[in-house]
Amino acid sequence: MSDPTLELSGIAKAYNKGRENEVNVLSDVDLSVASGEIVALVAPSGAGKSTLLHIAGLLDTPDAGRVKIAGQDVTGLSDRKRTAIRREDVGFVYQFHHLLPEFTALENIVLPQLANGIRAADAHARALDLLTRVNVAHRADHRPAALSGGEQQRVAFCRALANAPRLLLADEPTGNLDPDTSEQVFAALMDLVRSTGLAAVIATHNLELAARMDRQLRLDGGKLVAL
Ligand code: ADP
Repeated sequence: MSDPTLELSGIAKAYNKGRENEVNVLSDVDLSVASGEIVALVAPSGAGKSTLLHIAGLLDTPDAGRVKIAGQDVTGLSDRKRTAIRREDVGFVYQFHHLLPEFTALENIVLPQLANGIRAADAHARALDLLTRVNVAHRADHRPAALSGGEQQRVAFCRALANAPRLLLADEPTGNLDPDTSEQVFAALMDLVRSTGLAAVIATHNLELAARMDRQLRLDGGKLVAL
């Protein structure tokens, strides 16, 4: 069998370590996510979801434990190597879209590809294909401010997948949307992830959405347990 796309073992993380305001967020987190698998991460606000996603996505380092991406142990690598792996292998989606306001929807998906050395024509074609798959191609030339909240978030999914990562990490991707839009946007995300065979970890408060993923986990006292 091939290596899991994401493997966390014994992850611990505290903020303000050794000070009186020390917060122990993660104590012993183990997680293995295979290619094509979508895992729901459900926990109340403040439980440590963002901390866990940032560690899994190489935006933050744990105090203890190991992070492997596609079998490669990235725990001890230099910042430069971690950044390169993050850019190649990890896509992020947040609650707010964080699209660049001065660029069009299409350009927001083209730019990360150009930064990764893809030729402009290929980057445009891929951006348009991704927008088509989430039904926003007709808005390709609009800037984010001219798009609805659901459209903005669908463009953000396309941007996260622009460089064909192996792993998608999403932090409350529908948390800012009304229930109907949330449903449509979630369905678009699931289609996109399923059709690309990505491994995904999606944090959500919404138990109905969580139930439609392959596995449901929650953070309890700094550890991951089945929901
Ligand atoms: P969630 O995403 O589940 O809401 P977070 O991972 O953002 O949780 O935060 C977990 C806990 O760690 C919270 O109590 C939060 O206040 C604390 N925390 C997060 N980031 C920092 C930081 N940079 N410094 C100090 N405390 C932090």
